[in-house]
Amino acid sequence: MKILIADDDKIFMSLMVDILADGKDEVLQAENGLVAWERLQTEGADIAVLDVNMPEMDGVELLKLIRGDERFKNLPVLVLTIGFMAEDLVQRYDAAVTDYLTKPFEISALQLKVKEMEQRILKNPAAGG
Ligand SMILES: [Mg+2]
Repeated sequence: MKILIADDDKIFMSLMVDILADGKDEVLQAENGLVAWERLQTEGADIAVLDVNMPEMDGVELLKLIRGDERFKNLPVLVLTIGFMAEDLVQRYDAAVTDYLTKPFEISALQLKVKEMEQRILKNPAAGG
């Protein structure tokens, strides 16, 4: 599957790419929300992993654009947030957030969440993006 990852942390990005680009999955990288939105529109994705805190366009603005677009309204989106923001984010954007992880997390937890999303898409292709 094609996984779009948007995160401005270069070191963390390379860790995520290492674990997710495993042969079956193709990873599209974006260093901010604006680049992510451009890549999503031109290249598409099956799953998106969005950091909340990013320059140019943050993950919440990007999430709103994604959900407001007919092409991506069902795209599974995993949001990467930080502890004190997680509760507020999930309350306000519950319907828009497919799943989330609170930083810092084990990279294996990310792998598990993405695999769960892939399984859901395989079982119900209509749930994909
Ligand atoms: Mg960030």
